[in-house]
Amino acid sequence: MNFHSMEEREIEAGLDTDLQGGLSSGLIEQRQKKVGYNELEEEEKQSAILLFFSQFKDFMVLILLAATLISGLLGEYIDAIAIIAIVLVNGILGFYQERKAERSLQALKQLSAPQVMALRNGKWTRIPSREVVPGDVLKFEAGDRIGADVRLIHTSNLEIEESALTGESMPVQKNTTPIKEGNINLGDMHNMAFMGTLVTRGNGVGVVTQIGMKTAMGQIANLLQTAETMETPLQRRLDQLGKILIVGALLLTLLVVLLGVLQGQDLYTMFLAGVSLAVAAIPEGLPAIVTVALSLGVQRMIKQKAIVRKLPAVETLGCASVICSDKTGTLTQNKMTVTTIWTSGKSYTVSGNGYEPEGNFYEGEEKFAPSDHINIQRLLQYGMICNHASIHYQDDHYVLEGDPTEGAMMVAAMKAGFRKPNVLKEYKILKEFPFDSSRKMMSMIVEHRGKRLLVTKGAPDVLIQKSDSILWDGKKKFLSKSDEVEVNLMIERLGSQALRTIAVAYREIHESAKEYTEDEVEKDFTFIGLQGMMDPPRQEVEGAIKECKEAGIKTVMITGDHMITAKAIARNLGILHDGDRVMDGKSLSLLDKNELDEMIEDITVFARVTPEHKLTIVKSLQRKGHIVAMTGDGVNDAPAIKSADIGIAMGITGTDVAKEASSLVLMDDHFATIKTAIMEGRNIYENIRKFIRYLLASNVGEILVMLFAMLLALPLPLVPIQILWVNLVTDGLPAMALGLDQPEGNVMKQKPRHPREGVFARGLGWKVISRGFLIGVVTLAAFMLAYSKYPDQLIYAQTVAFATLVTAQLIHVFDCRSEVSVLSRNPFENKYLVWAVVSSFVLMFVVIYTPFLQPIFHTVPIKLMDWLMIIGLSSLPTFLLAGSFFAGKKKETMV
Ligand code: ATP
Repeated sequence: MNFHSMEEREIEAGLDTDLQGGLSSGLIEQRQKKVGYNELEEEEKQSAILLFFSQFKDFMVLILLAATLISGLLGEYIDAIAIIAIVLVNGILGFYQERKAERSLQALKQLSAPQVMALRNGKWTRIPSREVVPGDVLKFEAGDRIGADVRLIHTSNLEIEESALTGESMPVQKNTTPIKEGNINLGDMHNMAFMGTLVTRGNGVGVVTQIGMKTAMGQIANLLQTAETMETPLQRRLDQLGKILIVGALLLTLLVVLLGVLQGQDLYTMFLAGVSLAVAAIPEGLPAIVTVALSLGVQRMIKQKAIVRKLPAVETLGCASVICSDKTGTLTQNKMTVTTIWTSGKSYTVSGNGYEPEGNFYEGEEKFAPSDHINIQRLLQYGMICNHASIHYQDDHYVLEGDPTEGAMMVAAMKAGFRKPNVLKEYKILKEFPFDSSRKMMSMIVEHRGKRLLVTKGAPDVLIQKSDSILWDGKKKFLSKSDEVEVNLMIERLGSQALRTIAVAYREIHESAKEYTEDEVEKDFTFIGLQGMMDPPRQEVEGAIKECKEAGIKTVMITGDHMITAKAIARNLGILHDGDRVMDGKSLSLLDKNELDEMIEDITVFARVTPEHKLTIVKSLQRKGHIVAMTGDGVNDAPAIKSADIGIAMGITGTDVAKEASSLVLMDDHFATIKTAIMEGRNIYENIRKFIRYLLASNVGEILVMLFAMLLALPLPLVPIQILWVNLVTDGLPAMALGLDQPEGNVMKQKPRHPREGVFARGLGWKVISRGFLIGVVTLAAFMLAYSKYPDQLIYAQTVAFATLVTAQLIHVFDCRSEVSVLSRNPFENKYLVWAVVSSFVLMFVVIYTPFLQPIFHTVPIKLMDWLMIIGLSSLPTFLLAGSFFAGKKKETMV
């Protein structure tokens, strides 16, 4: 059907819908069953079987499989089966980890899935875009992506950017006029809007004609699927490090094998030992554990209402040094209530609670009826006309649908007894100029008793400058200098009480002017008055700002609101201190790059800025070496969000464009959530450091014990299967548990991490080598002691070496939890770690004491007395170096 050629009635009939009330539940269900979900089919994902087999593509695993084959051919079936078993378990673990990472990324995608406003059962409701069916009536505004193909039935300055479909980057103006030609290009369908295209201006309502793969976008969807790279900087660095480690490990292994062969060791055993050592020494599990740690961290963040859209953000979060935050809704509750109005030189107070339309007007202490007062009447009625908000009674309380600023003005007018349908009978709306943050105002052209009026509400300092007269006691008079001073004083007074102030003004316009543009009509106003609204700070924000400060992170408020209001709120919240600078958009525009850079670090409040200024601020802070987190919600915020190091979009009030540009979405729009995310980001990074340290130190220990033995012309202290076992059980489980560790002390008491900090920074490299060295030495010592005690029982000494290596690593894992010392933390705090260590120990005992496993793992039971030696020796690597902790403590107490 050619919906673009149809009139409204035909569309309604063609789609079997009701344009006034939307679809009803029954019809929706029926249609959903028939047409399915409104979504673009995705590329086939890698099947589970393929993913499983891909685990065995790994180079080291292939070598192991080759080793199995050789063992098999040589008739060493037990070795062959054991290696196969270990390769399989390794594969299953890898498969499980990758599946988990993939699933959590998938879940993330679901969470950030787009939503639309649909008219259903007579009410506007927000629903997931995938539930839209043909016949649904959708509403959209600047910043939204259109959820399906729709025929427009109402537009107000609607402009849509359709480049994804047509390649044309200039936005197209839309209207509702039927187009008579049958066959026209998409680009010429001015009364249609298409799925996935972007509203850049104005707003509109349309009825869904096609969904999912049937939409214009669906037909080219396959071309559009692009995979985003999700690797974090740390993962990239680890990849590079991995390559170096592979070469190093292979060289050392080769050395061990050569030395062994030279000393007359059996060639097959040395080959197998070499292969096992290479497998053990290469931390091939590291990238997978990092991914799991990152994705588990991401899941924890989701629970705390922060959705990470781009994995690298998790790491960058820990480096953030400045948070630039919007005020309204992020620092404040965005629950506005008009408490003061000013007009004709007098202030009045308004009582009442939230959005409940009950309350009284007072002049001083005296209650009065506002509808008798012509100035107040206009102030309130015009605020009601220039308004899209609506107030509903739902579940025992009044709820707002729409913008809170407008909601507050709507409620104020309702308190005076005005109702919108009645007001609109007197004032017929002809045209709207929607609000945008650059103009800072919104206007309606209305017809009233045969006259045309432009009714405007907006930022008072902007409106007063565009006014040449003022309505005073119901009469229009010239706006004198002293009136202007009085208005400005009032704006300041309301602002200093932290009230957000909106002015209302109007002008008559001539009927002859047919097509008006905003620039032509939004001027020469008659100023009516001010409405001051309270927007209480969000709870927890003050505390969060303080915590950020202690963590070396500065909070900067960026707001479109008036300077005085911004300052008052910033001071209440602890953002603005004595000596800090504040700046407004105008002054900011006058500065050049260098001038701004020079003072940017002293400024904590930017007021009356436009979204474009945000980009200037981000760039300047970045030039000063800061890692900037920047919040935003509107279309024009997208460039700043994109160029910030951590772009943050609002989940509730944010537009689709802002969300798409962001790397973090706040589900609750709350500043405190940014702090929580930063805290998580820091913690995740610290945990990654912990298991890198554990895994690498363990590997160093494993290689060194073999190398030292060969250098000392000793027999092999560990047999290949034992090395593989240690690699799988002792290394794997506790490392995963370290990824879930609690932060050490308060991560928010430290300074932000330098973004280019290397993997081995802050002493990690030294710790890996020193602990690894000691683990190697004590294992060898245990081996030598046991071997000298029972020189004819090599297998006994090897079992002792195996037990010492395992125990030393399992004790050392607790040391990895702390940057200071193992003694500074309660070892039972991390339950996962305790379980991982206990199960690794149990498995070790199983391997040593179960008769049928003994031949496979080349073990024999260890005598009790020798356990004492094993425990003593294996504690050394950890506790020898804990001594420095005591020394440090002593110094502290002496000071
Ligand atoms: P923030 O940037 O912290 O969210 P803000 O909401 O004040 O603060 P904008 O939305 O850019 O920032 O608004 C700028 C100014 O425009 C406001 O201070 C107010 O004076 C005015 N304003 C805001 N909303 C409306 C509206 N719906 N209609 C008319 N004027 C508005």
